[in-house]
Amino acid sequence: MIISESSASPRIVPTLTENKQTTVNSDDNQIIYLPGTNCVIKSNISLSGFTSYKVGGKAQWYSAPRDLMAIKATVEYAQALDLPITILGAGSNLLVSDEGIPGMVIATRHFRYKYFDNQTGRLTVAAGESIPSLAWEAASLGWEGLEWSVGIPGTVGGAVVMNAGAHNNCMGEMLVSAELLSPDGTLETVNRSQLGYKYRSSLLQGSERIVTQATFQLQPGADPAKVTSRTREHKQHRLSTQPYNFPSCGSVFRNPLPRTAGWLIEQTGLKGYQIGGAQVAQLHANFIVNRGGAQANDIFRLIRHIQRQIQDQWSILLEPEVKMIGRFPVLDGYS
Ligand SMILES: Cc1cc2nc3c(=O)[nH]c(=O)nc-3n(C[C@H](O)[C@H](O)[C@H](O)COP(=O)(O)OP(=O)(O)OC[C@H]3O[C@@H](n4cnc5c(N)ncnc54)[C@H](O)[C@@H]3O)c2cc1C
Repeated sequence: MIISESSASPRIVPTLTENKQTTVNSDDNQIIYLPGTNCVIKSNISLSGFTSYKVGGKAQWYSAPRDLMAIKATVEYAQALDLPITILGAGSNLLVSDEGIPGMVIATRHFRYKYFDNQTGRLTVAAGESIPSLAWEAASLGWEGLEWSVGIPGTVGGAVVMNAGAHNNCMGEMLVSAELLSPDGTLETVNRSQLGYKYRSSLLQGSERIVTQATFQLQPGADPAKVTSRTREHKQHRLSTQPYNFPSCGSVFRNPLPRTAGWLIEQTGLKGYQIGGAQVAQLHANFIVNRGGAQANDIFRLIRHIQRQIQDQWSILLEPEVKMIGRFPVLDGYS
């Protein structure tokens, strides 16, 4: 049996093998202990604290595994109950619906380890490691290659999936290989060429595979003070050009090259435009910031408003870079 506790009284729920349920009643606050792991699954966990926008409803089920075995056990549990799985990294590129997310949310933030291999110059890291922390640590060791990424507040898994990039660099260029977990529990290691990397995109987006580990090629042997200084410069540059003082998800739209989304939005006079607590940032027009008390729906409506305005004036449909998860209203045919 799997023991489940509610805040009111402890309960016993059937194990997967005894009763293959397709729906789970998560009305009350339950805690499910996965046997053989140190991992618990909780119901009705608010996600607003786990996203950089600081908005969004609850996860029907939430788990934050600390090791691979616990991730596998959580996936197996969700699969057995036919629960859809959503992976949450640092939540820095997510707009979670006010209605929350049905099924299982697996957060990787506690799944962490790293290994700097001096022989090869390769850094192997777990999916939940923080990109800025890695950039600072690599710099302090005199390893070059991650300086540009210090302002990207995501995890390794999110950066590999999103092909996060800045200053003409991107994760896909540095990636040597990634370890992926499929819903059926199989683990495979793939190299960069198998992931179809393009500008802010990879074959992992929309796929059911979970990034569990990544290996990056860096260049060790430099002066730590110089690498740290370059890293600091990148951070300073971003602080002066992007609005880090309010919750956001970074750039909302992909750049419709050769133009940039920020330029188009600014030219359209939308800087400062506000719906509810969501505002087009004054400092950088491709950022939407939460000025306080925004709902996910405010941000969603502002995204659609910007798309409509740009479409009307420039005949360009801006494509969101931010991932919208959960249910949102359909507005004017934009999806
Ligand atoms: C202030 C600010 C500045 C930013 N600047 C930049 C920038 O310069 N360049 C840039 O590219 N981005 C930038 N971003 C956006 C964001 O930080 C990146 O997209 C980042 O890579 C997202 O990582 P994450 O861990 O937060 O992923 P999340 O937002 O948690 O998830 C993003 C997507 O990846 C999936 N995912 C996450 N982890 C895994 C995993 N382990 N396996 C499978 N799927 C997974 C999620 O399901 C989701 O679809 C910025 C964001 C903020 C708030």
